[in-house]
Amino acid sequence: MTPPKQDPSRTDHTKPVEITYHNFDAAATKLGLDYDMRRILKMPYREIRVELPIRTDDGKLKVFSGYRVQHSGVRGPCKGGIRYHPDVNLDEMRALAQAMTWKTAVVNIPFGGAKGGIDCDPAKLSRNEVQRLTRKFISKIHLLLGPHRDIPAPDVNTNAQVMTWIMDEYGTRHGYSPACVTGKPVELGGSLGREAATGRGVMLTTKEAAKDIGLELKGARVAIQGFGNVGSNVACLLEELGAKIVAVGDASCTIEDPKGLPIRRLTTHVRENRQVLGFDSLPTKPPAAVLEADCDILVPAALECQLTGDNAERVKAKLIVEGANLPTTPIADQIFEKRGILLVPDILANAGGVTVSYFEWAQNLQQMFWTEADVNSKLEEIMIRAYREVRAMAKQNQTSLRIGAYMLAVDRVAKAEMLRGT
Ligand code: NAD
Repeated sequence: MTPPKQDPSRTDHTKPVEITYHNFDAAATKLGLDYDMRRILKMPYREIRVELPIRTDDGKLKVFSGYRVQHSGVRGPCKGGIRYHPDVNLDEMRALAQAMTWKTAVVNIPFGGAKGGIDCDPAKLSRNEVQRLTRKFISKIHLLLGPHRDIPAPDVNTNAQVMTWIMDEYGTRHGYSPACVTGKPVELGGSLGREAATGRGVMLTTKEAAKDIGLELKGARVAIQGFGNVGSNVACLLEELGAKIVAVGDASCTIEDPKGLPIRRLTTHVRENRQVLGFDSLPTKPPAAVLEADCDILVPAALECQLTGDNAERVKAKLIVEGANLPTTPIADQIFEKRGILLVPDILANAGGVTVSYFEWAQNLQQMFWTEADVNSKLEEIMIRAYREVRAMAKQNQTSLRIGAYMLAVDRVAKAEMLRGT
C-alpha cells in the first residue's frame, strides 16, 4: 500500500487521518526524511478488522465491526486505547494509532502505537451486552495482543470494567497476564493514579505553558469540552490550582458560569446522569458553544476535528491544551499561530495516560506496586521533561509546539527503525 496523497482541493483537513498525515509530513520535511523512511513511518505495521456477532439480551442477533490498527512496534510493544463509538472506522483507527506512536515517542517510553475500537453505541447496550461484545472482540484478536506485542487501554466509552473483561478473556487463553492491558481496577493490578493520569498530564503541561505566556493560573478562566475521564479530571486538578472553570460542554450541551462552576458537584451529577444537561437547571447552549466561550484557557477533551477553519477565529482563549486526540485541524492551527494563541499539542498534553499505563505495565511485569505519590511524581518528571524538550525543538526549528513535538517523535522512531536494520 502506498501512502495516500492529500486532496489539494480541500481547504481544511477534517478527517483525523488527514490531520496526522499533514503533521507527520510537515515534521518529516523539516527532518529531511527520504521517501522510503516516510512510507515506513506513515503506514501502519498491521491492520485487523473482525466481524463481531453477539446475541442481545432479547435473543436477537446483532453484528458489529471491531478494529485494531498496530501502527508501530519498533520502540516497544504497540500501545493504545480501545474506543466504543458508532463512528469508529478503519481510517479513524489508523489516525489514532499513528498518533499513539508519536505520543509514546514524545514522552520517551518504550512503546509503539496502536488503536482499536468497535462501531457500537454502548449507551444503547446493556452491561451484559457490552461484556459479550468485548469478549467476542478479544476472542478474535487475542493472538495479536499480549504484554510484549500489543497492550490495549481505555478510551472513549470504555473504562476499567471493560479492561477487566479484556484481561479475563485474554487470561482464559494465555494464563494470568495482568500486563496484557492497562487501565484496570486497582484491585486487579491497575496502577494507583491511572484514572486521573491523562487529566494530570494536561494539568502539568497547562502549568508549564501558562508560565511561558505569563498567565497566572490562580484565577485563570478555563473552558473544557468533554466531561468524561479526561475533562472531569482536568477540571478538578486545575480548580485545585486556583483556576475557575467557567464553561463545560459535552455531547448534551454547554453550561457556563463566569464566577466558576462547582466542579465537584458537577462531577457527581455527570457520574449519576451520564451528561452535563440538567445540572442545577442552568441555561444551556449547544455542545460546540464551549469552544467559543469567554476564557483564558481552552481544553478540548472530547473528540477529533473540533477546532477547524470554521470556528478558530472565534476562539477567545490565549492558551489551548489538547486533552483529546486530534481535536485541531491544520487550518485551525495556522489561525491560532497567526493570532498568537499558544497550543500544547495532543501527543504531548494528553500523554499522561499512556505514561501511567507504562507504569502499570512495569508494575504488573514485576508484581511490585508503587504508591500514588510515586506514580504522580514520576509522571510529573516525565511530562515536564517532555514539555521542555518539545519547546526546545520548536524553538530551534522556529516552528510550533505541534511540529516540534512531531519532529522529536518522528526522529526518535526513525532512529529506532535504522538501528534495527531497516
Ligand atoms: P469519555 O468517554 O470518558 O468522555 C468523552 C466526553 O466527550 C464525554 O463528556 C462526552 O459527552 C463528550 N463528547 C462526545 N461527543 C461530543 C461532542 N460531539 N461534543 C462535545 N462533547 C462530546 O472519554 P475520555 O477518555 O475522557 O476521552 C476524551 C478524549 O481524550 C478522546 O479524544 C480520547 O481519545 C482522549 N484521550 C483519552 C485518554 C484516557 O486516558 N482516557 C488518554 C489520552 C487521550
